[in-house]
Amino acid sequence: MTESAPAEFHSAKPDTLRLFFALWPDDATRAALNRTGKWLHQHWGGRRMRADTLHLTLAFLGSTPVAHLDALVACANTVQSHAFELILDQAGYWRHNRIGWLGASEAPPQHLDLVGALNTALQAAGFPVDAWPHVPHVTLLRNTAGGEMPACEPVRWPVSDFALVKSVTEPQGARYEVIRRWSLDR
Ligand code: ATP
Ligand code: MG
Repeated sequence: MTESAPAEFHSAKPDTLRLFFALWPDDATRAALNRTGKWLHQHWGGRRMRADTLHLTLAFLGSTPVAHLDALVACANTVQSHAFELILDQAGYWRHNRIGWLGASEAPPQHLDLVGALNTALQAAGFPVDAWPHVPHVTLLRNTAGGEMPACEPVRWPVSDFALVKSVTEPQGARYEVIRRWSLDR
């Protein structure tokens, strides 16, 4: 007799978590992002991300030993950055992973400061960080063919905190849980 498959495919080892830091939208922003996802889906097709999964990744850690959580929290504690408004006004498409997304034609300096401070702290503590430049984006569609860039209604996101998030892979797709939040200075 075989045992049933583990629910968390990405975290086959029980002592690891699949983690990332993200901007986690408030309810109004989430609703606006979801409306834009519906609209972009009408243009480009593919599979819409569920409303409850919408977020903007700041730093992706991947599979991380639970024992490293305290060190991650310490990294985030060092980040001193300011609240800002992020205007997401540009649809984008990546051919290599067939993702359709909403991004910012101009990333505010506070956003870049936040990403920079967080990644610098993570790197200094020995965590893996992305080598390529950060492109602020919210994934709205998976497995899309993309198409012509439609002009889109901007989403105004008042950013006042960032979060450490756990990714759990379930048969119906990824589910995310906010583990902890950090406020930004106003
Ligand atoms: P699944 O991989 O199960 O389809 P997912 O891609 O939604 O689910 P994760 O792979 O855990 O979930 O990714 C969480 C977030 O981190 C997503 O926003 C994803 O785009 C981003 N991400 C994933 N892998 C990387 C990576 N190597 N570099 C940068 N960001 C990544
Ligand atoms: Mg993934």
